[in-house]
Amino acid sequence: MSNSIIYWFRQDLRLEDNPALLHAAQSGKSVIPIFIFDPDERSIGMAASWWRKQSLSKLDASLKKIGASLSFYEGRPLEVLENLTRFYSADEIVWNRQYDGYCISRDKEIKQIFSDKGIQCSSFNASLLFEPWLIKNKSGSFFKVFTPFWRHCLSEYAPESPFPRPTEVRGHPDKDPFQIQLPKALLSDDADLTSDEWTPGEAGAYQQFEKFIEEGLAIYAEFRDFPDRPATSRLSPYLRWGEIGPRQIWSKIQFVKSHESFSEKTISKFLAEIGWREFSYNLIFHVPEMVTQNLQPSFNDFPWEENEKALQQWKDGNTGYPLVDAGMRELNRTGYMHNRVRMITASFLIKHLMIDWRAGEKYFWDRLLDACPANNITGWQWVAGSGADAAPFFRIFNPIIQGEKFDPKGAYTKRFIPELAHFEQKYLFSPWKAKSDSVKLDFQEGEYPDPIVEHEYARNRALDAFQQIRR
Ligand SMILES: Cc1cc2nc3c(=O)[nH]c(=O)nc-3n(C[C@H](O)[C@H](O)[C@H](O)COP(=O)(O)OP(=O)(O)OC[C@H]3O[C@@H](n4cnc5c(N)ncnc54)[C@H](O)[C@@H]3O)c2cc1C
Repeated sequence: MSNSIIYWFRQDLRLEDNPALLHAAQSGKSVIPIFIFDPDERSIGMAASWWRKQSLSKLDASLKKIGASLSFYEGRPLEVLENLTRFYSADEIVWNRQYDGYCISRDKEIKQIFSDKGIQCSSFNASLLFEPWLIKNKSGSFFKVFTPFWRHCLSEYAPESPFPRPTEVRGHPDKDPFQIQLPKALLSDDADLTSDEWTPGEAGAYQQFEKFIEEGLAIYAEFRDFPDRPATSRLSPYLRWGEIGPRQIWSKIQFVKSHESFSEKTISKFLAEIGWREFSYNLIFHVPEMVTQNLQPSFNDFPWEENEKALQQWKDGNTGYPLVDAGMRELNRTGYMHNRVRMITASFLIKHLMIDWRAGEKYFWDRLLDACPANNITGWQWVAGSGADAAPFFRIFNPIIQGEKFDPKGAYTKRFIPELAHFEQKYLFSPWKAKSDSVKLDFQEGEYPDPIVEHEYARNRALDAFQQIRR
């Protein structure tokens, strides 16, 4: 009779609030915790790869403290699991669910094949507050607008409490021959990031969350749009890799709410952003094609421009619009970008340069530490106007006004654009005007480029293009 169970880690790199791991630990069987590098899953970029590697090493160290260790495999999960169930005579496989189209069909196939062989596959929820198939509007369909979606979630369902961390996981004494070394399967360590800003892993997630509660939560509602203010949680890479889960966030915030004097406004604003994450997962679950296709088919006829040169200037942070360039340089240098600046840089690519949102989505996916299968797609489609509850296409961010409003002292912009470090504030977001006003320029560390496209011209061109698809 079998006495082993395989636990397949995926996007749930933590011990606490991990129902599949808890189930395995409590099964009384020897547990084989594994991670599989699946070549058919969308490959992640350098920054995310760096993050995942750190996180997996820490997870392995944490598992060792409670009796097991993490083994790594490369290949199609079905084949890897077939080898492992045979080697260990395992009669059960467990995992926490993923919600994108590829993972859902892969997991369904695996479940079917193993259940035909009498091996039970069980899946659990570790990454959402509400399962997407439960949340339906009055006509029985999924919600396409955030506010009623979130109102419905909160009025109909109470998020579950987090699951406790297992105190012991009984590992298996044998070692199979299919394992690979962790570093071999991953991209290099040399991601060009200011990685000292981040501590990947479960412990790092809790530290970051505590720091946010102490320093950011009180000012979240007021200052979350200001990239130079430490008002947002910076939990996105931890949530992406499941080093913390939304149930833990929800429950801690409820505790904080009842013990400390935060305003209702700031608490509900923060929780609503966790709600936007739920909404994004909900959308890709119900419309899996939206990862490559416009959610609104009218955008299929949009006259996107092919402009490699402009795309490269945007990627490099050389558009001549300081806030756009600061955002792109922040992304390139740190693997992160503030939400408001994500909206501005994305809008610039789509509307000022008329470049297809998919090119921007791909670049963000390759560069972000938090590159998320749901949030990145929905974020880009939201900005393009092609998504659900999206910003209308005709609302075109003015990168000059956005800079003056959300980076009023220029501290964020100057941090990432040293050429402008000593530049007069009045001209910071439109440096070309200083030239035309014959102001003595004080560029540092080389020249800053002229705008690659003129704002009013770009705005009118985008609006004209939008008229074409509305007809
Ligand atoms: C074009 C574009 C691309 C984006 N790509 C990603 C991505 O790949 N990964 C990602 O996690 N987020 C993405 N976002 C959403 C958002 O920008 C980030 O989640 C946020 O900036 C992360 O910083 P934070 O953790 O300090 O956020 P906070 O403001 O502290 O929010 C807390 C958490 O709520 C969630 N959240 C916040 N804003 C949003 C949002 N607009 N949509 C969905 N969830 C949200 C995130 O999980 C975040 O960590 C994107 C937004 C845009 C406009």
